[in-house]
Amino acid sequence: MDKYNQLWHKIKLHLADILNDNTYHELMQNIDTDILKFENNHVYVKVKNAFTESKINMLYLSKINTIANELFEDKIDFVFISEDKLNDFEIIPTAPIDTQKTDYLTTSLSRNFTFDNFVVGKSNNYAFKVAMKVADQPGVVHNPLYIFGGVGLGKTHLMQAIGNYIISSDLNKKIIYAKADNFIEDYKYFLDTKNPLGFYNKYRSVDILLMDDIQMLSRAEKSQNEFFKIFDTLKNNNKQIVITADCAPKNLKDIMERLTSRFQESLIINIEVPDLQHRVEILRRELKTNYDPEKVPDVPSNCLDYIADNFVTNVRELKGALTSAMTFCEVNKLPVNLSSFKKGLSLLLQTKKRTSTLSENNLDKVQSIVAEYYEVSISELISKSKKYKIALARQIAMYLIRQLYNIPFKKIGEIFGNRDHSTVMSAVDNIDRELKHNQLMVQAVTSLIKKITGK
Ligand code: ADP
Ligand code: MG
Repeated sequence: MDKYNQLWHKIKLHLADILNDNTYHELMQNIDTDILKFENNHVYVKVKNAFTESKINMLYLSKINTIANELFEDKIDFVFISEDKLNDFEIIPTAPIDTQKTDYLTTSLSRNFTFDNFVVGKSNNYAFKVAMKVADQPGVVHNPLYIFGGVGLGKTHLMQAIGNYIISSDLNKKIIYAKADNFIEDYKYFLDTKNPLGFYNKYRSVDILLMDDIQMLSRAEKSQNEFFKIFDTLKNNNKQIVITADCAPKNLKDIMERLTSRFQESLIINIEVPDLQHRVEILRRELKTNYDPEKVPDVPSNCLDYIADNFVTNVRELKGALTSAMTFCEVNKLPVNLSSFKKGLSLLLQTKKRTSTLSENNLDKVQSIVAEYYEVSISELISKSKKYKIALARQIAMYLIRQLYNIPFKKIGEIFGNRDHSTVMSAVDNIDRELKHNQLMVQAVTSLIKKITGK
């Protein structure tokens, strides 16, 4: 196998890891096992038809290229090309994205929200998997699906990704994405125009209904009634319903019982706050997609750690902070480094009350303070590296988390790259022993505790 086929093979293994089994196998049935050729930094792979080609381009291409560039030294782009285009092959440098046919206007979907650019971590892994399954077989598995979680954690993104995926697989599927307040307005509009039938026809004729922020139906009783009827009709006809909300069904306020009890029968999934490593990963992905790839490697990881440490509970704010800091450097012609980032974000941070109430985030805080102290990056801290400085920082961080928060060894192991609890136990023991005679370490630990607790 030559090196490009080897690369393609490795990429497939990665995809098998991140996609659900059906999606993966269905996709691979339509893609050639071996690459077609390599030319001008492009790896060409043949796919069965234009539909698969556009599906890959829309959903997986950027992920595939990201993996390729992680695995391979030279910059490489993959091009998937359908059999029927092979004749024009010579003149097609990159595959076009064929989404023209899709009538996005009627669905109100935004093309930016795809599975491909949703960064998966512990906090949303389950939600992501379920959403992929639902998108793969709408109306068949997990119907209805109810996704809840705090502001800015990706509910709308995931819900729209389901819609975008379905449209890309079947242009004939009728999808409506609506925020619950638009639903209310829509209802009023049809009543005003004396055309309630138009309203029913619109919502009851869909194959997939994506209803965002259902808590906004609160107190709008008539709209709730209408939604109830639509919900029942769709469900009975095996049409997929996806709902998002800012809380679990049982905590919805001023929404009629018969609706909330229907929601309670749904598959209910929760998106949680991403942990530190996940937040850093989101920032890295953001850099890759929105900034000049030549310059991205120059953003030091302590800059990303700094943002991830200060913007904890909302991915929108997290991404916004990165944009602010990068713009600040550009406008003021400052080097991209920690000190510029601190300056650039100081105002934003002054006005923003830092959220560190969740214990998980306190653990993150310990990791980032220790990482900064020993001048290692968060990813090194969590990595398997045995370099003295990194291993020491890691053991100290484990020790501090254990001492300050009394977290079970197993849990500590999980947040340090899924290490075994026995590894954590021996790290804590080790530091304990050192502290009995190593004055330097005593000083380090004392000063770290001050930084962490603020006392
Ligand atoms: P919510 O609906 O939960 O309030 P959104 O779906 O609107 O949150 O997400 C807010 C912003 O953060 C969007 O720009 C979205 O693309 C982005 N975002 C949220 N979670 C992720 C994630 N896991 N990966 C990438 N972007 C994300
Ligand atoms: Mg939303």
